[in-house]
Order: sequence, then structure tokens, then C-alpha cells
Amino acid sequence: MRNRIFFKLAAAFAVVIAGATLVLDISIRDVWQSSLSQQMERDLAQKTAMFAMRVNSEAHPDMPQIAKEVAAASGARATIIDPTGRVLADSEADAATMENHAQRPEFAAALQGQTGTNQRRSHTIGVPLLYVAVPIRGGAVRLAYPLSEIAASVAQVQRKVFLGSSLALGAALLLAALAAHLISRRLQRIVRFAERVAGGDLSARIASTSSDEIGQVAAVLDKTARQFEGNFEALRTSQRQLETLLNSMQDAVIAIGPDDRVQWANQTMDRLLPGRTRIQAPIIETVRDPDFLRTLRAARESRAAASARATTIVTGRAFEVTAAPMPAGGTVVVLRDLTETERVEKTRRDFIANVSHELRTPLTSIQGYTETLLDAMTENNHSREFLEIIRKNASRMSRLTEDLLRLARVESGEQRFEISPVLPEELLREAYQSFSEMARAQGVALEIENRVNEPVNADIEAIHQVFSNLIENALKYAASTDRIILGSRPGAQGVEFFVQDFGPGISSEHLPRLFERFYRVDKARSRESGGTGLGLAIAKHIMLAHGSSIRAESELNHGSTFLFTLPFSPAASQVESRVR
Ligand code: ADP
Repeated sequence: MRNRIFFKLAAAFAVVIAGATLVLDISIRDVWQSSLSQQMERDLAQKTAMFAMRVNSEAHPDMPQIAKEVAAASGARATIIDPTGRVLADSEADAATMENHAQRPEFAAALQGQTGTNQRRSHTIGVPLLYVAVPIRGGAVRLAYPLSEIAASVAQVQRKVFLGSSLALGAALLLAALAAHLISRRLQRIVRFAERVAGGDLSARIASTSSDEIGQVAAVLDKTARQFEGNFEALRTSQRQLETLLNSMQDAVIAIGPDDRVQWANQTMDRLLPGRTRIQAPIIETVRDPDFLRTLRAARESRAAASARATTIVTGRAFEVTAAPMPAGGTVVVLRDLTETERVEKTRRDFIANVSHELRTPLTSIQGYTETLLDAMTENNHSREFLEIIRKNASRMSRLTEDLLRLARVESGEQRFEISPVLPEELLREAYQSFSEMARAQGVALEIENRVNEPVNADIEAIHQVFSNLIENALKYAASTDRIILGSRPGAQGVEFFVQDFGPGISSEHLPRLFERFYRVDKARSRESGGTGLGLAIAKHIMLAHGSSIRAESELNHGSTFLFTLPFSPAASQVESRVR
């Protein structure tokens, strides 16, 4: 690398300097040559003019003598011709033997009265010459100067220029090599630094002392490495914090990549499945529970969180599995151990069921004896009144224990539901038949509004219980209503059933808690009307067991509507035949 940059720079410098020297040499030579020839031409023209004056000044000039003297004085060849071009005298040849010179270009111009110049090889002496001719009285004179003199002078200048250029070239090359060496050394330092950073050593630094472009590059790279190190450290800190947080969680957390391999797991997960949570191992080798794997797939396919209960991840323990897709692909799954919560919940349910069960017999006995005593009593005195109170409370307690037992059975799953296809009409009609008389007695019209003719999946008995609770409530709490509508209509998830009254309604702050056990809007009113506070809780759990839910819509003074949905049943033909 060092040599490559060094040689490239050195070669570039050498080419530039050599080129510059060559251009300098050529242009100096040209300028020198042309200025020298112009100088000589001027010189020769002056000398020729003086030669002409000399001839003109004498009355009877001795032409050969003058030519000889002028030639000796000027160092040029001197020639004199008459107006016809005949040579009268020549300093270097015999004039008598010389041919007519009238057609020589310089003489032709001079015989026309002008100064003539020309450069050519001489016919007489065979060397290149510079000729200048000037007119005289009775002809013209000419001086000829050998051009080789000019060439020699130019060659001498060229030698000097070449020598100077060579020396300059040598010195420039030396300087260029030194500069190339220094630049290459600085670049090499930057390369070594960049290689360290690329290799992951973010603590690498490069000190730049110069403010030129290379120094600026080094400073920018140094700043970048510094920023990288800072950001990386912040990232590492937040990663460590996240790891600590996840490891301190009670829940097990496992991250699974898009390739279904384990990417990361917290320590709780390791403790849960010791030796099985291996990074980069396929998830199926770690967890084989079908509910876990289904939830994982559901979250990935729907790109939304999904959850389920899984019971075979660890034998004898139940987990709530929540899977959520990660923005960069893959899924993170949280396992919450439900075993203890479910155990406590079951203990509570069992306790309530047992207490209710145990209370049943003594309560029946109290009710029985009270009624017997009342039957036997003839006088209308205080004892009768007290006995009435005892009977009323005993029957209330009995209803309470019955409702508690029913709720416990539905909640625990002990009550088995027999789901079968049934037409909405059938469900509505059964509820209608059970309550129409009671409603009529209260001056309320019970109406059916059925808009669906497709069967739904339901346990007929259980849904009848839901309708009963809702209609009883409407009769109890919406006494002012003149009608109660039992209806069905198509909904988003199946058929939506509803019980609507036009009574006093329920104010909105009560609606979210209405389905909690023992929640009553008006406690005194509920107790007085024989309510246990469990009717809507039982309805809610029956709907949960159907995989559905129940809700209430109400506005004060505008009546209430209770709604629940049942899914369509695919086995339609079966129902139709049963109904017929
Ligand atoms: P309860 O045994 O007291 O009737 P529920 O769980 O059946 O218990 O009902 C809870 C409370 O909801 C009732 O106490 C009553 O205040 C209110 N409620 C239920 N249905 C209606 C209705 N149709 N109109 C007004 N209030 C109602």
C-alpha cells in the first residue's frame, strides 16, 4: 500500500515536471530562434544599407574592392549587380562566371526599389544563407549571411536550457519523492487506524496535527470513532439494564428468531427448563407444548400479540403463554406461571361451593320448620311476624347458596355444556314461554324480534338461564317499562341476542362493573326484590364458557339493553330436521 501510493505520487510528479520541462524547452527554443533570426535580419539589413551608401557615395566606385572590404567588415558575403542582374562584384566568387541574378527574389525586390530578404541554399556556395538586398544607383547590393551561425547559436542556447531543465527536473523529482513519502506515511497511519476501528477496537484514536485535507480526514474519522464508542457504550448499558430487568422477572421470557431458533432467554426460562434452553437451537427442541407452538405461530402470522394457556411445558404446571411479534422479525414469548394462582382460585371456589353446600341442608330445615310453624299458627301476633321474617331471610339465604353453587360450578368447568345447533327462534320462544305470564301479570308485554333464521351453537339450558336472569332483572329493575323485547340479529361474529327494556336505565359509571359478583346499582332495591347480586355474574360465566361475552348498553331514563353473541353453527341441516 505504502509503495503503491508512493510510486503513484512520484510517477505523477515526474510526468508533470518532465512535461513542463519539455514544453519550456520547446517554447524557449522557438522564441529564441525567431528572435535571433529577426535580430540578424535587422542587423544584416542595416549593414546592407550602409553597403549601399558606400557604393552610392563614390563617383567611380571600385566594385570588387568595395565588396571585399564590406565582406571583411560585416563577416557576410557581399554581391553587387547592375540593373540587368549581371554580377559586377562578389566577395566570394568570380563575378564574371556568375549567372544573372535579376531573378533572385531579394534582388528582384531591390531592383524594384525595395529592400528584399530571402532565406535559401546558395547556388554558388551550396550552404543555407540569409540574403538582404538594397537598391543603389545603377543596380543593387546584397549581403548574405550563413544561417548555420543562427543554428549554432540556437543549439548552444538549447544545450543550456536542457542542462538547466535537467537540474531542475532532478531537484523537483527529489522534492516530489519526499512529498510523496510524507503523504503516503500519513495516509498509512489513517489506514491502520481505520483497520483497528473496523476490527471492533472503538478505543482507537488518531491524533491529527495538520489542518490540510488529510489532517481533516483524520480528525473527522477520529470524531466518528469517538461518537461510535459513546453510542456503543450507551447501547451496551441499556442492553445490560434490559438483561438485568428480564432476568429479575418472575415470568420466563424467550426470544425466537424468524428461523424458529432460540435467540435469547432469561434466567427464569433456564430455571424452568434446565439444560434445554440453548441459544440457536430450534425452539421445538426446547418447548414441545402444542399450545405454546400454536400461539407462537398465531402471533407471527397475524403480526399481533396472541395468548393461550399451556399445560404441558412443565408437568403439573399451567402457564399463560403470550407471544408478541418483534419489529425486526421474530417473536418474543412470555410464560407466566398460573399454577399457584389457579390453585388459590380453585381453593376459593371449592370453599364457596362447600360452604354453600353445607348451608343448604340447615337452611332447608329452617325454611321447612318455619313454614310448619306458620301453618300451625292461627293468631296474627308478633310471633307470626317474626316467623315471617325468619322465613323470608332463610329463603333469601337459600337462593344465595343456590346461585353461589351454580356460579362455582360454571366457573370451575364442573358444569358440562352440551353445545348443539339451535335456531335463534327456538331460544327466544323458550324464554318467552317461561316469562310471558309473569310479565303479563306485571302489566308488561313480552315481545320477540327475531331477524335470523340460521342456527347457532349453544347449550340450550345454559342460554335459557342467561335469558331468565336478564328477563327477571328487566321485570325487577325496569318496572316502569311497558314492554320487554327479546331479539336476535346478525352480528359480526355470529348472532347477537338481546333483552331490551324501557325502564330507568343504568348510569354509565356502573356499566363496567355490572357483571362483577355482588355488584348492585341500588343495594336496598336489589335486596328488597330478592336479588342476590350474582345473576349477571352467572350470565357472564355461561357466555365465557361458550367462548363469547356479554355486555350492557344503557342510558339513564332511556332503558337498558343486554347483549350477547353466539356463533353460527355449520350443521344447519341437522337442526332443521330436529325442529320439524
Ligand atoms: P341482582 O341479583 O341484584 O339482580 P344482578 O347481577 O342480576 O344482581 O344485577 C346486578 C345489578 O344490575 C342489579 O342489582 C341492578 O341494580 C342492575 N340491573 C340489572 N339489570 C337491570 C335492568 N334491566 N335495569 C336496571 N338495572 C339493572
